[in-house]
Amino acid sequence: MNAQLFVVSTPIGHLDDITYRAVEVLKSVQIIAAEDTRTSAQLLKHFNISTPLTACHDHNESNKTDQLIQRILNGENMALISDAGTPLISDPGFKLVRAAQQHQIRVVPVPGACAAIAALSSVGLPSDRFSFEGFLPSRQSQRVATLEKLKDETQTLIFYEAPHRILECVKDMATVFGAERPVGFAREITKTFETIKKMSLSELVNFIENDHHQQKGEIVLVIGGATEQKDLEQEALDKLLLRLLQDLSVKAASQLAADLTGIKKKVAYQRALELTDKKQD
Ligand code: SAM
Repeated sequence: MNAQLFVVSTPIGHLDDITYRAVEVLKSVQIIAAEDTRTSAQLLKHFNISTPLTACHDHNESNKTDQLIQRILNGENMALISDAGTPLISDPGFKLVRAAQQHQIRVVPVPGACAAIAALSSVGLPSDRFSFEGFLPSRQSQRVATLEKLKDETQTLIFYEAPHRILECVKDMATVFGAERPVGFAREITKTFETIKKMSLSELVNFIENDHHQQKGEIVLVIGGATEQKDLEQEALDKLLLRLLQDLSVKAASQLAADLTGIKKKVAYQRALELTDKKQD
């Protein structure tokens, strides 16, 4: 059988999150291509894996690819790992996988931890459709321009962010997406100080500003899509109307709701009618 390239996910914090199959594959291949050989050496030591490591990172991936492909073509099974999580997800490996495919080398995924998916699965925002956006540009003007393009996106958005930029990034998000847009904050997933929270962007600005620990470690931000915000606005309007309808007529309740929220009176009236009908059903 021809040699293969295994794309192996490793833990994003808790070492027990490695899979049995990942350990088996890492032990059985002839060579492991790793983003940082020193970081990966520690992981291999922990699992008693003695397979030799070779570096494959952003700075040498183009030059190294031909060499690695040649080794696989010569019959060596190879595993690709990154420092943590799933290779290629905001990590090196794309050029190697593409080249392997071009050389008809079988690429075998060995799935496992990924910070984006772990965050999405736990913050309580819609997960049926989402867009992984990776890291935003570090320059503020470019970051804001990128956020502007995503403002009306209805899917849930997932971002990775460095801790030293988290506050300015969340502030920019609050400005562009609106202070009330829901956000999931997933910090230090699977580690001692794991923090998983859902709130509005303005609340998150306060939370991070008032607790400097929240500006440390590794962070994923999950932003509710544009419709999620509309759902929340609808929920708030419904709550207000239902309360007003306890004491007032549909006309008076919708007039007051329109005055208080700034929405069109016709819209409030229509919704008040719908809610009254629902109550009677
Ligand atoms: N390939 C990795 C994966 O599958 O998630 C991501 C690598 S990327 C270079 C590193 C970023 O992932 C961090 O800056 C952070 O945004 C996110 N991340 C990685 N581990 C995390 C963790 N334990 N908790 C929260 N975010 C994490």
